[in-house]
Amino acid sequence: MPHVIEPATSGRAKCRGCDGKIEKGELRFGERQPNAFGEGEMTLWFHLQCGAYKRPEPFLEALGDASDVPGVETLRAAAEFGLAHRRLPRINGADRAPTGRARCRRCLELIEKDSWRVALVFFEEYRFQPSGFVHAGCARDYFGTVDIVDRVRHFKPKLTCADLKELRGALNPTAGSRDRDLRAL
Ligand SMILES: [Zn+2]
Ligand SMILES: [Zn+2]
Repeated sequence: MPHVIEPATSGRAKCRGCDGKIEKGELRFGERQPNAFGEGEMTLWFHLQCGAYKRPEPFLEALGDASDVPGVETLRAAAEFGLAHRRLPRINGADRAPTGRARCRRCLELIEKDSWRVALVFFEEYRFQPSGFVHAGCARDYFGTVDIVDRVRHFKPKLTCADLKELRGALNPTAGSRDRDLRAL
């Protein structure tokens, strides 16, 4: 069966993208996958925005040329941006490193305690597995863009405006601080 966008028939399904509840009647995106446990197919359900961010390819297939989905142009743009920058769908939020023990997947250096890092997940075996972090300052090299704050905020809605402002600063290190970082290596 093809991927689908349809109203949720119950309020029981959880979104694979954010683990949040999908309300009954809310439009949801269903990605069809071969059944991991037997014959036939299974459907992975997502909020529309979560599907556009994290599963852009099947999401766009499901969307087709639909024009009656609320926010369709924004959703389409988010998914297309994720196809153009293939690592963007890995974004699962951002935070200040609670310890100094994690390594950045981009530069392989330790991420200093309390500095901003972007959290990554990889889609494996029908679910998203936590897959490490990159320095906010390495985001441009890793993702090919720093236009990621909308995604970060979507998957980490508890971040405040002040947090997001700090994050923007960390994503865009000034030339001066970047030179200093390079000299420190
Ligand atoms: Zn979701
Ligand atoms: Zn790094």
